[in-house]
Amino acid sequence: MAVDFKVIVIGRGMMGAAAARHLSAMIDGVALIGPREPAERKRHHGVFASHYDEARITRTFDDNVVWATLAARSLDRYAEIEARSGISFFREAGCLFAGPVPQPGQGYLGRAIDISARLGVDFETLEPTALRERFPQFSLRAGFNGYFEKRRAGHVNPRALVRAQAALAEAGGVTVIDATVTGVRDAGAQVEVTVGERVYTAERVLVAAGGFSNFNQLLPDPVDIRVAARTVAFYELGEREMAIFGSMPSSIVFGDRDEDHVYILPPVVYPDGKTYLKLGGDTEARSFDSLEDAGAWFRSDGSLAERDLLVAAASEIMPDLAGCPVTTAPCVATFTPTAYPYAGFTSSPRIAVLTGGNFVAAKSSDELGRLGAVLMTEGRLGNEDFGRELTPVFR
Ligand SMILES: Cc1cc2nc3c(=O)[nH]c(=O)nc-3n(C[C@H](O)[C@H](O)[C@H](O)COP(=O)(O)OP(=O)(O)OC[C@H]3O[C@@H](n4cnc5c(N)ncnc54)[C@H](O)[C@@H]3O)c2cc1C
Repeated sequence: MAVDFKVIVIGRGMMGAAAARHLSAMIDGVALIGPREPAERKRHHGVFASHYDEARITRTFDDNVVWATLAARSLDRYAEIEARSGISFFREAGCLFAGPVPQPGQGYLGRAIDISARLGVDFETLEPTALRERFPQFSLRAGFNGYFEKRRAGHVNPRALVRAQAALAEAGGVTVIDATVTGVRDAGAQVEVTVGERVYTAERVLVAAGGFSNFNQLLPDPVDIRVAARTVAFYELGEREMAIFGSMPSSIVFGDRDEDHVYILPPVVYPDGKTYLKLGGDTEARSFDSLEDAGAWFRSDGSLAERDLLVAAASEIMPDLAGCPVTTAPCVATFTPTAYPYAGFTSSPRIAVLTGGNFVAAKSSDELGRLGAVLMTEGRLGNEDFGRELTPVFR
């Protein structure tokens, strides 16, 4: 039976748009279905995404070889995507990790030092005095070391990266459909994808719906993910603060425990024309199992308790921010029990899933998209593409 498309990618987010771009260079007959960002977040009752922002940290320094490789392979292609799309999304501001001096090979920093050395990642170690001299905008604890990646690190604009990927996909022949999918069904020889009153058919479907992958009956079995609340704090900067923080790198500052770290994005101009420095953490415990609950979270301003924690951390690390207006926003991070992203088939040999960003996949989304495209065209991922590590777990 004739199908509408060879492959339908569901989700015009970071991984889905990248998958569609890669597929456009491999095969004809590809569709990318997903809604654009809602114009009014607080009045929107539908699906949301984790990339509605202007800055995500990018780096290769990582405590895990798979994640470091996914990032490095993506970074290799940023310049080409920018040049071909005419959309700029990468700022090479550098990335600084700061924390207590680790035991060799121990904790996040100890492992990241080992792995970075093994992979040939270019980073500099800054002892406490050198760290303070190099980055005087921070007030870091006395014994802290710094690990600074100056090149091939900084931040990407996730909205712009998605725009670039989708534009290149479309230019490469992909049909982009601005809609939300409300059902996917393996009908034997083909897969049926329902969009409102319409049903599109495809030989294969890649579900890349981020934290919303288990909603709207997109998958034959729910995938094992934890869709966790994350709150970010935005500091609105004036000229005085810009003089202090304008040239800072993307930064991740550890506390006594690895999980107590905060990440800080350098000042970026937002669509309202104002410049914000953004701060976030990784300890919020709340998670969502329904579209209603996830949607209500996205319509909120995030958690007030988390805001207070972030403000306390900012006051300690960046006392010069005192007096800046602070606002907050919600987001979700999609965690997997394997701590790796998922890229693999479901119980249906025609429906695969690509999700599980684990709070760190924006920078690596182009390579994850390529792996999704390989899955769709070759049916599997080999060892060089981490097929075993990226195997999805279902509930
Ligand atoms: C606060 C915060 C800070 C972060 N910071 C960083 C960082 O500094 N560095 C980094 O590398 N990563 C970071 N991340 C992680 C990164 O943003 C995510 O890993 C990434 O966005 C995941 O991409 P995705 O394509 O899986 O999901 P998304 O980008 O969320 O895309 C999923 C898409 O699917 C669509 N969709 C959902 N349901 C449907 C449906 N039924 N039909 C059609 N389409 C649908 C949505 O509209 C969305 O566009 C951060 C995440 C958060 C929340």
